[in-house]
Amino acid sequence: MEIIHLSAECYPVAKAGGLGDVVGALPKYQTKMGHYAKVVMPMYHTKFLNTHEWDVDFKGSTNVNGWWFDFTVIKEKHNTLGFDLFLIDINGLLDRDSIYGYTDDTQRFCGFQIAFLNWLNHWQHKPDIIHCHDYHVGLIPFMIKYCYEYNRLNDIPTVLTIHNAQYQGWMGWNQSNFIPPFDSWKSGLLEWEDDINPLASAVKNAWKVTTVSQSYLEELRYNSNGLEALFEYEKGKCTGILNGIDDDVWNPETDKYLETNYTADDVEEGKQAAKGMLCKEFNLDAEKPLIIFIGRLVGEKAADLLPDAITSAMYTMQGNVNFLILGSGEPHVEWQLQQLINTFPGNYNSMIGYSEALSHLMYSGSDFLLMPSRVEPCGLNQMYAMKYGTVPMVRATGGLIDTVTDMGDAGGWGIRFLQASIGDIVHATGRAVGLFYDDKEALAGMRKHMMQIDNSWENSVHQYISVYQSLK
Ligand code: ADP
Repeated sequence: MEIIHLSAECYPVAKAGGLGDVVGALPKYQTKMGHYAKVVMPMYHTKFLNTHEWDVDFKGSTNVNGWWFDFTVIKEKHNTLGFDLFLIDINGLLDRDSIYGYTDDTQRFCGFQIAFLNWLNHWQHKPDIIHCHDYHVGLIPFMIKYCYEYNRLNDIPTVLTIHNAQYQGWMGWNQSNFIPPFDSWKSGLLEWEDDINPLASAVKNAWKVTTVSQSYLEELRYNSNGLEALFEYEKGKCTGILNGIDDDVWNPETDKYLETNYTADDVEEGKQAAKGMLCKEFNLDAEKPLIIFIGRLVGEKAADLLPDAITSAMYTMQGNVNFLILGSGEPHVEWQLQQLINTFPGNYNSMIGYSEALSHLMYSGSDFLLMPSRVEPCGLNQMYAMKYGTVPMVRATGGLIDTVTDMGDAGGWGIRFLQASIGDIVHATGRAVGLFYDDKEALAGMRKHMMQIDNSWENSVHQYISVYQSLK
């Protein structure tokens, strides 16, 4: 099958979170299975762009309701990622340093989707599937069906994968001129609660919808930032497929960011070496249990609870625990987390920012990974942590339910708690600290066990292919 993945992110070209990891891995594993998977994404000014070679594949221009623009499609020359990668350049609109966060993001992603469809209109053949990831490309299923210009494409099946339903891309109707002329009788298929809602539109118009875990799919019917009724209504075409881990990138045996690689057999030595380096760099005590948090410092991740929860845990455990934070996001949370460095020197540290290299060292050099998320569609961090022998401490929500059991249950290996609250985080910290000091044998057994859990992509890729096949 020929599958085109459309996304705003793809690791290592441009990544802000899990979406990038998934779109960097899924096409590679589909290609390995004998399918022809491609990724098409916007051309940002990233390091990847400047360090790779490109061919120009197509040049086009378009006029959308009086908005004229030229675009260029370039293709990475050497198939470095294990699949064909195409970037769309729209001068001045997409070629920026960051992926998101501009006031004209609506126009940017509309321009990207229009350029893609105009390019596709020129192909001699049609792909078997167009697979859209998240709201940034959520208008594609509607545009293919109802924009007059793309009539020729309207029998290509579209699949939407929802990585995060919190962000929906709301646009006022005054921005409808960013959408090429369409059958106005169908305008209801763009809308949710009086706005154009690209995510809702994709759910309505895509032939199939997937979410990145089964539990998240069930949650969306009760908690999806206003779309609950829609998910209830469309549940028949929705499936939950858990994300996998890209073994080429996330594997302590081969990880190029680690000085000492390790397997389940020498996990204690491997982790000790990484922990030593980490603690030295961040002025922490390697003899104490090290709990880390990695992620966006936003409400979904319950990052706002961290400053008070860490303070409370530190006093409750009488300093017998260390915390290390890597992340960026809401400024007041960043500020509070930085203040704690002065409050708990030697026990706490944080790095505000984004560092792929440090994240790898932290997954391997820590004992516990804290994820108190309010919303977690799948969560990759806990899967990476387990692969590196680090015990996840997670709030039981979304994909965290599907991937982590509690050590109190038979055969369990993680720490689960129910509420995204300071009390629950402190209680979970107490359990982690107890395990670290009082039951080293159980901890060692858990590490070995977690490292052998199969969270690879192979299984999930088969499920995606079944979804595509159901549309033929
Ligand atoms: P989300 O996509 O909601 O942010 P996921 O758990 O699905 O969360 O994926 C997060 C990904 O982003 C992981 O690969 C994680 O290691 C990475 N990540 C998040 N924040 C940072 C950061 N500040 N530095 C390095 N990697 C980060």
